[in-house]
Amino acid sequence: SRVIDSARIRADFPLLTDSDLCYLDSAATTQKPQAVIDALSRYYQQDNANVHRAAHRLSRQATEAFEQARERVQRFINAAHSSEIIWTRGTTEGINLVAHSFGQLAIAAGDEILISELEHHANIVPWQLLAQRSGAKLRVIPIRDDGDLDLEAFEALLNPRTRLLALTQVSNALGSVNPIETMIEQAHRVGAKVLIDGAQAVSHFPIDVQALDCDFYLFSGHKLYGPTGIGVLYGKQALLSVMPPWQGGGEMIERVSFEASSFQPPPFRFEAGTPNIAGAIGLATAIDYLESFDRRQRLRHEQQLLNYAEQQLKLVPGLQILCNPGQRIGLIPFVIEGLHNFDLGALLDQQDIAIRTGHHCAMPLHQRLGLDGSARASFGLYTTKQDIDRLVQSLLNLLAPETSSDDCDSTSPQRP
Ligand code: PMP
Repeated sequence: SRVIDSARIRADFPLLTDSDLCYLDSAATTQKPQAVIDALSRYYQQDNANVHRAAHRLSRQATEAFEQARERVQRFINAAHSSEIIWTRGTTEGINLVAHSFGQLAIAAGDEILISELEHHANIVPWQLLAQRSGAKLRVIPIRDDGDLDLEAFEALLNPRTRLLALTQVSNALGSVNPIETMIEQAHRVGAKVLIDGAQAVSHFPIDVQALDCDFYLFSGHKLYGPTGIGVLYGKQALLSVMPPWQGGGEMIERVSFEASSFQPPPFRFEAGTPNIAGAIGLATAIDYLESFDRRQRLRHEQQLLNYAEQQLKLVPGLQILCNPGQRIGLIPFVIEGLHNFDLGALLDQQDIAIRTGHHCAMPLHQRLGLDGSARASFGLYTTKQDIDRLVQSLLNLLAPETSSDDCDSTSPQRP
């Protein structure tokens, strides 16, 4: 496997090498390596055809590449069967699929859906809508002041009416890592199913869905060095095979008549219409790219970078890093006294430094923290210490007390 050398890795990413951009927004979306860009254009130049339909050679070729991509994802998260891998547009669509299909199967009035105060809106709103449709109740695991989930409150919330625990593995706003292994076990003990939002986790941790024993796992390709518009829903075979379809159309049916239709088994039952074929192939290439690096080395490197960033950012006067969770990965959330995060984002942008500011699709979390927003610097494989130094230096310059330029300007009139 390749050695982690961010400066060299950077050369794989054309958008970063062809500009002076200091990109610290990888939690929103990662940049794409040349290998992924090449896979997309190669597909359109050489293999483009619709899948699972025609008898012709090109269609067979595209179908094969598309299904191989599914198997690549299966290996990536160690799913037992490739039919447990469903292509979606992204994490958001996957959660909506589960809310509709599993919701129809298993959630009725009086049932409880458990989420946490840390969730991205994508893991809040679909459950709120389901609760409204079904009469189920949405319950929320609170966080403590350090940003970690209140696990005692979690245990107290679990009960035989809990049908589903829908939880993020890593918070997109705080970077905190939830102890999902034990939480999955505890939820299963009361008979609940568990959905894990892996959007912020997959680019950092190795994922083994069988070891986790979660019922659903979701992620987006674009946060994993892959294309936008493609994502994955993993579901346990036994569950998927009894879940009803959520969108109807071509590809997902066995037979159609005007009286009734019958449906394909998973995964096709959940993939109505022409899928994002190039996206799936691009995602498989991104996984190959990510896994060309040693996992342990990658994690160590990221942790070192994070520690360095934390250390350096603490030198900025008035800067407060949010919360202090037991484990953090991939990003640092902060606020600066007397400087609104919107202004901060705009000022840094003028220097070609890209960070995320605002509520990061986690309004309830910010409410809990008593903030109307925050700033977030987030990191990828290509992030270097120099990126962090540049951010810190810019912040120091921005916040430096207005030194009267007169003092060192010899042309200005001397003061008495
Ligand atoms: N969950 C988390 C934790 C996220 O960070 C994001 C993306 N910001 C999403 C869900 C939604 O992902 P997407 O927009 O790719 O569907």
